[in-house]
Amino acid sequence: MSAYHVADAANLIKLDAMENPYNWPEEIQQDWLESLKSCPINRYPDPEAKELAASLRRANAIPDTASLLLGNGSDEIIQILMMALTSGSTVLAPEPGFVMYKQVALSLGLAYRGVSLLADNFELDMPAMRLAIAQTQPALIFLAYPNNPTGNLFDAEAIKEILAIAPGLVVVDEAYAPFADASFIEQLEHYPNLLVMRTVSKLGLAGLRLGFLAGAAAVLDQLHKVRLPYNINSLTQLTVGFALDHGDFLWQQTRTLREERGKVLQALQTMPEILAYPSAANFILFRTLNTPANEVFASLKSQGVLIKNLSPQAGLLVNCLRVTIGKPEENQAFLKALTHALKC
Ligand SMILES: *Cc1c(COP(=O)(O)O)cnc(C)c1O
Repeated sequence: MSAYHVADAANLIKLDAMENPYNWPEEIQQDWLESLKSCPINRYPDPEAKELAASLRRANAIPDTASLLLGNGSDEIIQILMMALTSGSTVLAPEPGFVMYKQVALSLGLAYRGVSLLADNFELDMPAMRLAIAQTQPALIFLAYPNNPTGNLFDAEAIKEILAIAPGLVVVDEAYAPFADASFIEQLEHYPNLLVMRTVSKLGLAGLRLGFLAGAAAVLDQLHKVRLPYNINSLTQLTVGFALDHGDFLWQQTRTLREERGKVLQALQTMPEILAYPSAANFILFRTLNTPANEVFASLKSQGVLIKNLSPQAGLLVNCLRVTIGKPEENQAFLKALTHALKC
């Protein structure tokens, strides 16, 4: 295995990691700093993060019947889920998908099965999914909705079929929920094997490391046995709760980013050397048709713009690059640098 590599973005326009580019309004920042004074950092944090959990429930319309588990980012929840499996269990996920599913499964010695998406539209290949589920009897299936790095929402009926035929748990990973108009949260009542995972990272709080999982108490009670007692630190509990309770500005930023997403997609789609895929997330996947993506990526970087090069992952991602939506001026700088890169 190799460790998950995070690129150094010093002095670059950073459009590689799906971060929200905006800061907090000055007066909200002042109120937040004031509220930190009362944070008892000499004590261990609330192991159940009760106040934060209540804010998360309100902000995400979690049904009262669902239980919650909080994680140090949803990355930690992925790890908790897999640590709770018995050895020999299989984890299944469509590919290309979020790389941590495979990374964590392999690091814990679990079996991992990737199932290729359809090449033309990155939809679930249902005959292949049915076959792989029947063959491997996965204890855990991950479906990112919208999917990273492709940006699309899988067909909801296909996901429901997977929920119905899965012998184990199905995690619908809604990391990009702030940028999509679709969710499986309302389906929690209908499928006892459904778990919905979200994070505040893409909304704009990536530095705080907070994700959550909603689902049946019968399942989450088991996961709590694996979770370390103080996994959500006091500063994160207080700050995420504060941000969600004063969260109008975050949603405003999200709306701006969605508008920018439309503009960037339109600009990419006018470039004949580029095939850009529609996205329900805060990034856009695109393919270079004439110039190798490695060269375009390097040219962008030398012009001061860092995006994500997915071409080394090969398979369906050959010559694919992923750009995170930033501020309007950052997106313009990216488009200008891309135009220049394609001319060389
Ligand atoms: C970014 C991302 C995550 C991880 O989010 P954190 O909460 O920051 O750990 C999980 N799933 C998907 C699909 C993502 O893109």
